[in-house]
This record gives sequence, structure tokens and C-alpha cells, in this order.
Amino acid sequence: MKRIILFVMASLSVLVATAQYLKIEYAGDALPKKEQQLVEQMMVYQIKFYRLFGLKDSLKVKLTVFNERSVAEFYLDTIGLSKKIPVKNIGGLYSAKRKEAVIMEMDKNRKRGLSVIYHELSHYLTREITGINPPVWLMEGLSEYFEHCEVGKKGIRHSMTAYEKGRIRSMYMLGEVNLRNFVDADWSLFMKKQRTDERYAYILAHALTTFMLENVSRQLLSDFITLLQDKTDRAKVSEKIARVYPGGFEAFETDFEKFCE
Ligand SMILES: [Zn+2]
Repeated sequence: MKRIILFVMASLSVLVATAQYLKIEYAGDALPKKEQQLVEQMMVYQIKFYRLFGLKDSLKVKLTVFNERSVAEFYLDTIGLSKKIPVKNIGGLYSAKRKEAVIMEMDKNRKRGLSVIYHELSHYLTREITGINPPVWLMEGLSEYFEHCEVGKKGIRHSMTAYEKGRIRSMYMLGEVNLRNFVDADWSLFMKKQRTDERYAYILAHALTTFMLENVSRQLLSDFITLLQDKTDRAKVSEKIARVYPGGFEAFETDFEKFCE
């Protein structure tokens, strides 16, 4: 009995914490209560992180979930989004203009679908703290980070897959990593790398963000994000990293390579 009460209290506090800061407007096919709770638990976790960097107190995002891809594609046609983005192979997308995440085919694999939800909703929060144009690797890296988190009985755990770890090691062995170009890359260069080189861009962005979140002090990360928030400062992203990282960009490169070994 005591256990049950504690459990009820725990899930209540999760709901309150989400409702206090973030209102999720659910749309499309209904997400079962159990899955809604997982999403909200993950969002409490994400908000705890993003609040370190000046997230405002009242947030609202729309989450539109489709069980079937054909229905999702039709919806994207009607709101005019499929013209801008090739939607054939994606699992989900986030529209900053509409503040809406769209999930394409939840029924194909619901566990995978939940990960896609964590990914797309993280895009909303990243934009809230960094404004219109965050560096692509940070934007996708944070989303990959939260996508690879799992809500379990003992809390939330992040991991990189064995494939990702192996891929990073081989990138370094083959001399494929040019970190300076990568952190300064714009969207088209990032996606070009992604298409031509076995998911190079997303995996490297995920590893780099994991390094920033798990091996670098929160103060340093916060100083870096403060520099990104300053729209009058036109310096390249690599220069901004050099300014906050002890030893500059070279030390950042060396430490990251060691982290990847
Ligand atoms: Zn993304």
C-alpha cells in the first residue's frame, strides 16, 4: 500500500512539474496514457537541463503523432511542410515556425517512436535557449543525446550505441575528423556529410554533445551558450569554443579525441 501511494505521489509530481513549465498540446492519433507519462517524465528531465541556460518559465509545444506514415505525409502536405523538407525517409520533424513536432509512424515501432518524440521535442527547447540559429551540431547533438535516453524504473539513462562508438573510433583512425570545420558547419554542409558518409554528422554531433554534457563543467557549457545567445557577436563557433575552453580549441580537440578512444 505504502508503495502504491509513493508511486502515485511520484507520478503526480512529474505531471505538476511538466505542467508548471511546459504545456504539451497533444494532437493527431491519441498517445496512450502510459506513453504520455514517459514523454512527460523525459521532458521534466530535459527541462531540468535546459533551465541551467535561461529557459523561460512558461513553455508550450504541440506534439502531433501519427500511427501511419501515409496519414502523416498527407498532414504535412496540408500544412505545407512537405514542400520544404524531403519527408520520405524521416521518422519525425520539428517546425520552429509552428512550434510543433510531428511523428511519422508511431505504430511501426512504438519504443523507437518514443525516442523520436524525445529527439523532436528537444529541438524546441534548444531553440528556446539559443534563438533562431543554433550551431547545427549542437542542435542535432542535443536531440541525439535525449533520443538515446531511456526512461527506466531507476530513472533516466543515456548511452551511445556500440555502432556509434565504433564508427567514431574508425573516423579518427581514418583521419576523417576535422573538428574545426565540423563545429563551424552550416546546415547544408552538415547534411552533405551526413548523406555521403554513413551518418557521420549525427554520430559525431552526438559524441561531441555527450562530451560537452558529461565531461565538461556546467559552468563552461553555460559560458559557451551565453556566447551563442549574443547575436551581435559574429565570431565563428570554433572561436567561441576557444574563448571558453581552457587551452583553446586545440585543447578542446585533444580532450575530445581522448574521450572517444
Ligand atoms: Zn533533429
